[in-house]
This record gives sequence, structure tokens and C-alpha cells, in this order.
Amino acid sequence: MHKKRKIFLVFILVSLLAIFLVAINFSSFLEGIKFLYNGLTYSEISNNPINPNGKYGAIYDLVKIFSIERMEYIRKYLNSKNIDYKLIPNPGGEDNILVSNISNKDSYTLIVAHYDKYTEKEDYQGALDNAASVVVLLNLISDLGDKKLLPENVGFLFTGLEEKGILGSQYFVYWAKANNYKIKRAIVLDMIGRGNLMAMTPGVKNGLKFNIPFVAEILINFPPVINAKYWNIDNSIIDFKKYGIKTNNNVVTTSDASSFLLLGIPAAHLSSDNIWHILNVMHTNKDTIEKLDEKSLENAERILENYIQSL
Ligand SMILES: [Zn+2]
Repeated sequence: MHKKRKIFLVFILVSLLAIFLVAINFSSFLEGIKFLYNGLTYSEISNNPINPNGKYGAIYDLVKIFSIERMEYIRKYLNSKNIDYKLIPNPGGEDNILVSNISNKDSYTLIVAHYDKYTEKEDYQGALDNAASVVVLLNLISDLGDKKLLPENVGFLFTGLEEKGILGSQYFVYWAKANNYKIKRAIVLDMIGRGNLMAMTPGVKNGLKFNIPFVAEILINFPPVINAKYWNIDNSIIDFKKYGIKTNNNVVTTSDASSFLLLGIPAAHLSSDNIWHILNVMHTNKDTIEKLDEKSLENAERILENYIQSL
């Protein structure tokens, strides 16, 4: 009898603790449930594939070439549009490319996309990660450039070495500091091209936040990460609501945004709200061009163009 009572007490305590943990991590739990639900309706194939002859057709070129060739591709594209840029060498190649009015040393808003690929294997395309973002940026620059609307307080940055541990953007922030470039804020596009834009919680590791009070904050991943640094989503960077950008306060992601944040520069990571798709294809041979969605890219570009013009 005595032993039974003890077991019962332990059971109650464990249940209370479980309820307590669920309660304080409620939004993360909802995120997890939403994620599982999305898995039921998820289709890998896109309903609106990219038109090879349309404005994002350049993605078909980018998925076929290696990181260093992507760098040359961007340079050629900018040259063909008579758009000035600065090539900022990185140790080990994959240089950063900065498009901005270089006489302006006032504070900048930077829109950033990495062009390098996760692996240089022949059958790896890196379409979602990150050819799509690069092409959206190229379109933005050439559209605004054509209309002579490239504002002086906005710069565009193509980074290399992101997949080597966000190195290109880290080199860049130190270079900018040394050269007296005042970066006001950075908006990083990484893995856009499915569904709608979603701002992730930027951090130095990836995972779903889970808080055990007085013990640790865990990022659920394989393997889990304990007490990893992250930054809350900063609404002063962009009015997310106004532009119809979802925010995700539970999923923590590492992107070039973290390089800016580590030096105290406000930064946001814009990605896709189809997290199921991201996890399904990221850094694998499944990240191919036919899974991208043209409407999704059009929408992202329109939002960014409106945002830039409001600065
Ligand atoms: Zn990426």
C-alpha cells in the first residue's frame, strides 16, 4: 500500500511537471503540431514552377554551376546591366559582392543573399538554398536600377562562404567596420521560394525552442543544443505585419543574419513558411529547381520593392 501511494505521488508530480512544461512552451508546441499537420498536406512538387523564359529564368543557369561560377555569373549579370558593384575579396575565394552607392557613408540598409552552395557535387542544385534568393535580388536591383529608383541608403550584398559557417558575412561586417560603412540593418534572404515569406528567430544554432525553467533552454534538433544564443525577432527592422510577413518566434535558424547580430547590427532572416519543405530538401539532392514556386518569388520581390521604396 505504502509503495503504491509513493508511485501515485511520483506519477502526479511528473504529470504536473509535464503540464507545466507544455504550458510555458505552448507556442513551441503549437509550432510542432502545425508542422506535423503541414506534413499531412505537403506536396514536394510545386504548382507554379519557375518559367525558364520568365524573369526568374536565371535560376536554371545557377543550379547547374558551382559556387565560384555563381560569383562570376552575378558579376556578369551586373555588368550587363551597367550596375556598379564592389568585389570584396574573402580569404579562400567566394568573394562578397556589394552593390551600393559607394560615395555614401551614411547608414545603410542591406539586403543580403548568399550565392554559395552547400556542396559542389555535380547532382546538387541548391535551388531553394540559395539560387532563388540570388535571382530575386538580381531582379530587384535591375528593376530599381532601370527605373533609377536605387536609393542611396540601400545596399545589396551577395555573400560567399555562407555554407562554410557564415564566414563571408562575418568577413563582410568586419570589412564594413574597418571601412567606416555604417550598416543600419540587414535583411537576409535564405531559402525563399515556397509559400509565403516568414521571419525566423535568428541564432547561432538551428532548432525548435524548448525552455526548462532554471535548467536550460534547449533547441530541439538532431542532436539537441543546450543554451544556444539567439535574438528575438526585431520589428524595428521591417514592419512584418504591414508587409504580410509571418514571424516565427519558436524556430531558431542560423543564417548570414547572425553575423550582423553578433556585432550588434539589427538583422532579420526571411525564409519560407513551408518549413516542411525546407527540412525535406535542405542540403540534399532533393533541393531542385522544379520544386520552386514562381508566385512565391514574385511575392517576395514585390514586398522587398515596396519596403525599399519606403526607406
Ligand atoms: Zn542557405
